[in-house]
Amino acid sequence: MFDKLKENEELWDLFTRKEEYSVTFRDAYERFPYYLSSHRNVFEPRVSEFLVENGLKPQYPDGKKFAVCLTHDIDAVYPSYPIVDSIKALAKGKLTEAMKTPFSRVNRKWNPCWNFRKIMELESKYDAKSSFYFLALTSEEKDFNYNIKDLESELGFISDSGWEVGLHGGHESYNNLEDIQEKKKRLEEVLGKKVIGYRNHYLRFRVPDTWELLSKAGFKYDTTLGYSDCAGFRNGMCHPFRPFNLNEGRQIDIMEIPLEIMDRSLFKDYMRLNVKKAWECAKHLINTVEKYNGVVTILWHNNTSIEGENLKYYEKVLEYCAGKNAWITSGEEIYNWWTSQVEPGI
Ligand SMILES: [Zn+2]
Repeated sequence: MFDKLKENEELWDLFTRKEEYSVTFRDAYERFPYYLSSHRNVFEPRVSEFLVENGLKPQYPDGKKFAVCLTHDIDAVYPSYPIVDSIKALAKGKLTEAMKTPFSRVNRKWNPCWNFRKIMELESKYDAKSSFYFLALTSEEKDFNYNIKDLESELGFISDSGWEVGLHGGHESYNNLEDIQEKKKRLEEVLGKKVIGYRNHYLRFRVPDTWELLSKAGFKYDTTLGYSDCAGFRNGMCHPFRPFNLNEGRQIDIMEIPLEIMDRSLFKDYMRLNVKKAWECAKHLINTVEKYNGVVTILWHNNTSIEGENLKYYEKVLEYCAGKNAWITSGEEIYNWWTSQVEPGI
């Protein structure tokens, strides 16, 4: 499969993300954004299309036509940054505010971000499962919101129910092997078993280095490869694949399950679509992936889905995919299925 693809230089460059090997400019988070890419046709999975034309025909359990890799990045478990906020509030002499913030930390019932079970319940209605990627930050690190040790019982519940717990790497992890290893260990100690799935915070990623680091750290799959500033197919793929390191001239021992739809890309942070347009965009991508018997990866943050409109939107996506009889599941299950069923050539 690789050999045929190599003969098509344009598609090979897109597949390997060649343009990302020699960039002079990145965004504020050191990311390669869609607005700098020379491959403008991000809504069509051109490489997958080529592979399907050349014989790739993945099959899924129970004769399902395509799969949804359903995922959640857990950036926050508490509505804001309680400790920092309390200290700030105290410093400003706002005692009431300082008293108020930690309250949500204690009273889980009233905490809208402590919602894993609610999300799972909703997904069960559609016979779906998903992956939860947890940060394992220390209190000194940027964006620290929760201590993973405090979530032991939730992690156990998620994992025992057949959903996946994976690692959400910190800001700098994508570029630092020790950091990835440390966080993986921290999460595994709380979970009591190995984690195999990964996505970096802010979708920070370096091609091909991050794949190499993740592979060395023992991860089996990554699902960071998507643009934060635009939905779509970053390397023209809507199927899981083994990435290729152009510097070394070889495949990397990890699977990429590329990310296509992130809640924050669609709405106010990047694409600025209204609900109707965001829905059209998601529908187009889902229909496209169905056409190529692919895997559409959806990222829905747990602190996005708590709000009324967004939750409705999320449920609409689930309903739509379930209506199409998609296999809606976690990254781990996709990884296991893909490695056992589909030819190892890609
Ligand atoms: Zn994140």
